Amino acid sequence: MSEDCIFCKIASGAIATDLLYQDDDVVAFRDINPKAPTHILVIPREHIPSLNETTPENKRLLGHMVNVASALARSEKVDGSGFRLLINSGADAGQEVPHLHLHLLGGQKLAAIG
Ligand code: AMP
Repeated sequence: MSEDCIFCKIASGAIATDLLYQDDDVVAFRDINPKAPTHILVIPREHIPSLNETTPENKRLLGHMVNVASALARSEKVDGSGFRLLINSGADAGQEVPHLHLHLLGGQKLAAIG
């Protein structure tokens, strides 16, 4: 845990947040400033600042984050209409919170990227 990391505080319960999902490795909660009708963040409990700090040992964790997000897409009922999973990493991507997080966005037509 990183003392001044807001997502570490959410994961530990130090900041009370409605969790949509939690297990030993990850927690999921709604984005405070949603960019789509469904906007959920899936984060590891472990403080990993960004994708830049992941290693091959994080392979299972990263796959688990995607599986949890996909399950949430189904429970949010955006699986049929479509959804996007997104990880911002570093300044050029606009990463604001330096704790790895996977965005789940859906519930509307999303702007094309790439
Ligand atoms: P990123 O730009 O990929 O770092 O995204 C960070 C996201 O975290 C933004 O969409 C913020 O709205 C969201 N966020 C920041 N603080 C909180 C918070 N306390 N609870 C929920 N979402 C947050």
